[in-house]
Amino acid sequence: MHNAQEPQAATIGILGAGAMGTLFGTRLAQAGISVTLVDVNPELLHAIREHGVHCETDQGPLHARVQALQAHELTQPPARWLIFTKAAHTQAALQSIAHLLEPETLLLSLQNGIGHIETLHGFADARRIAVGVTTWPARLLGPGKVSSLGSGKIRFMPRTGQVDVGFQDFCDDLNRAGLHCEIDPEVETAIWEKLAFNAAFNGLCGVTRQTVDGLASPLGRGLIHEVLNEVVAVAAASGIAVDAPRIQATVEDALNHHVGHQPSLLQDLLAGRPTETDSIHGAVVRAAERHGIATPMTRTLHRLISLTQQRTP
Ligand code: NAD
Repeated sequence: MHNAQEPQAATIGILGAGAMGTLFGTRLAQAGISVTLVDVNPELLHAIREHGVHCETDQGPLHARVQALQAHELTQPPARWLIFTKAAHTQAALQSIAHLLEPETLLLSLQNGIGHIETLHGFADARRIAVGVTTWPARLLGPGKVSSLGSGKIRFMPRTGQVDVGFQDFCDDLNRAGLHCEIDPEVETAIWEKLAFNAAFNGLCGVTRQTVDGLASPLGRGLIHEVLNEVVAVAAASGIAVDAPRIQATVEDALNHHVGHQPSLLQDLLAGRPTETDSIHGAVVRAAERHGIATPMTRTLHRLISLTQQRTP
């Protein structure tokens, strides 16, 4: 019988069993790593317990069986957690597992946007926190079912800047699952480059209700350029050496290849769900204010999206 207070060292808990939780859960479990998916949606968890998790990939379908529970049902606390809720739900999600967090429990956020470190700090000290970024894509097809075409990478760095055995093991397990993970001291650069991309595409597609390729006109490109310039200026003032031409190349690739794709913020707006605008546009505006930089485009996107989702910016 397992002691409820004794962390299950091998298990990775995934907080949020949506698109990314399902993708990571499937790949980790397929690699023989014990996974527990935790969510607030009982129907979703029931479907995952009944049918397992399923991921469509370029190499064919992947399927796995995983534990799927609500936080209060969990008695064997995982020693490592991947945070994959949307940003607006991170605080509540961490609160729901707070009683399961042990002094050595590790928390890794690969969520989009910035500001996650501050939220994680409410639940663990710097030694146990890491943030990063992933380029793996996941699109929800149904409960416990995703499509993830193409490939991706993960980069993260422990908050202390020191790589201990626990986070190295975490990285190794992600690699065992074929998720191409690297511990990267320059991760802040990658986070801000993705932030600039997301500020432009999520913001402009959200407000205009266009798919990504809908921004390929000169007008669309001009708007993208203005948002990117603002985020790049704020990054530079924050001491983060983002590479503007590299961001531009990613933008071009998206304009040419992500035909018909609705960024997640647009999907959330259309479905009446809270968006991640606060951790994308809001966070850029707050950082800009600290440096006395004007960000009129980003600020306006934040305010318009906040208004649309019936929240005060
Ligand atoms: P999603 O909306 O598909 O899934 C989020 C899940 O969190 C849902 O199942 C929801 O029920 C659950 N949740 C909400 N509140 C909760 C709580 N209190 N406790 C536990 N679970 C809770 O979102 P996603 O697309 O998987 O994105 C997760 C994060 O990863 C976001 O920050 C997103 O920006 C980022 N991301 C997504 C992709 C992608 O392609 N989908 C790629 C890279 C990064």
